[in-house]
Amino acid sequence: MGLSTGGDTRRGATLLPTRQIRGRGRPVPFPATLDRTMRDDYEFVILGAGCSGLSLCYHLLESGVDAPILILDRKTSFEDDRTWCFWDVEYTPFTHLARKEWSSWSFASETGSVTQTTEHYPYKYLAGRDFYGHVLDRLAGSPNVTVRLGEEVGGYAEESNGVRIGTSAGRVLAGCVFDGRSLSPGSIAFEEARRRSVWVPQEFLGRHIRAGRDVFDPGRCTLMDFSVDQSRGLRFAYALPTGEREALVENVYLSEAGLSSQAHRGEIGTYLEDAYGLTPGEYEVVGEERGYIPMTDHRFPRRLGERVHSIGMLGGETRPSTGYTFLRIQRYCRELAGAIAAGSEPPARVHPRHLDLLDGIFLRFMRERPGECPEVYRKMFAGVPPDALVRFLTERSTPLDEARLIRALPKKPFLVLAAGALLECVTGGRT
Ligand SMILES: Cc1cc2nc3c(=O)[nH]c(=O)nc-3n(C[C@H](O)[C@H](O)[C@H](O)COP(=O)(O)OP(=O)(O)OC[C@H]3O[C@@H](n4cnc5c(N)ncnc54)[C@H](O)[C@@H]3O)c2cc1C
Repeated sequence: MGLSTGGDTRRGATLLPTRQIRGRGRPVPFPATLDRTMRDDYEFVILGAGCSGLSLCYHLLESGVDAPILILDRKTSFEDDRTWCFWDVEYTPFTHLARKEWSSWSFASETGSVTQTTEHYPYKYLAGRDFYGHVLDRLAGSPNVTVRLGEEVGGYAEESNGVRIGTSAGRVLAGCVFDGRSLSPGSIAFEEARRRSVWVPQEFLGRHIRAGRDVFDPGRCTLMDFSVDQSRGLRFAYALPTGEREALVENVYLSEAGLSSQAHRGEIGTYLEDAYGLTPGEYEVVGEERGYIPMTDHRFPRRLGERVHSIGMLGGETRPSTGYTFLRIQRYCRELAGAIAAGSEPPARVHPRHLDLLDGIFLRFMRERPGECPEVYRKMFAGVPPDALVRFLTERSTPLDEARLIRALPKKPFLVLAAGALLECVTGGRT
């Protein structure tokens, strides 16, 4: 079963060539003034000019920090390489940049679909291009910030007068380092986490589609459509229509499917045909994004050294049960910047501990009983009031919200999984 717009959707179709384009449009303009100093010591050095590195720098400036800050990244330009979606449950300095929002969303499995409408918390769509552009402009207006691109960071060593960082362009001395280089598959941090934790990969490819006729309903997005073929692993389609003819459509696996980009594209093509009646000649692909988000209960170390802190995915900001990371990054970076400005200790974590157990249970459920996930999730989406569900998904839930969620879950399998999760909590997890 797919989501259908109903009626003869092919009428009046314009035939369009299907092009395959990576990323979207030109790189985000990089203000030349950002590459401004040639000094070799800084108070703060941020490794990685991605979501967490840029967010931290932004929050530091907002907190009034005017000490020299250097951001290093190996990429040579800022591409429109990802879209961040999040629920609007609280202020962030980037929320106003969202291009689109939905108050209604749907969920589907083989047995049916549910559409819910929130009263308070729309789901926001933030294009990578808009985030990078906005932050770079803000940084360019601050003479204490330098951003150096095209520099591979090798490693660092703590010395008596600071942290010595080795990059492909030389050495830099830092008073304090924030490592936001993410979790690359194959890296030591990635392999260590995978070995020691309950690990559910979220592997996906998304295509920005422009159709030749009106097919999408921009009034509602599809959060999870599990009615797609499940033979290669637990999988759903995610569709974010930004107009009647435009949508970001993603093919998402919650398993180690290891699909090639071409195979993902094929599955998206099938979904577009099944759910919207769109044949390949009826749309063009104007951009693509691809990701691997590890969902894990691994406890990522926050302190990597006396003066080295991890941020972003490397700091464990991905919510284990959902893969959402953006809001957590904003929360942590805001608190961290506030602590630095006040001269106090950086916080170890800011998200609530009491949800760790539920997160661990959901994670085990996906890993151990993937076949049951679509139906259980459908019942959860149908049975929990949407605002309560959003509060749970964003770690803003009240005890009543959590009671409602637990009531909507099947008791027996979840009790068994809870016992396993509890046992690992008590024994300190795997070794
Ligand atoms: C396509 C995609 C879509 C996503 N969508 C959402 C979403 O809708 N909602 C949500 O909550 N989360 C989403 N996420 C998850 C998460 O929010 C993002 O991955 C986010 O960018 C993580 O931030 P980060 O700072 O940890 O890593 P990144 O933003 O990936 O930044 C890491 C930076 O470090 C640099 N780097 C790495 N190694 C080195 C090195 N050795 N030397 C120098 N530089 C280095 C990289 O070039 C990169 O710029 C998405 C992820 C992807 C990939």
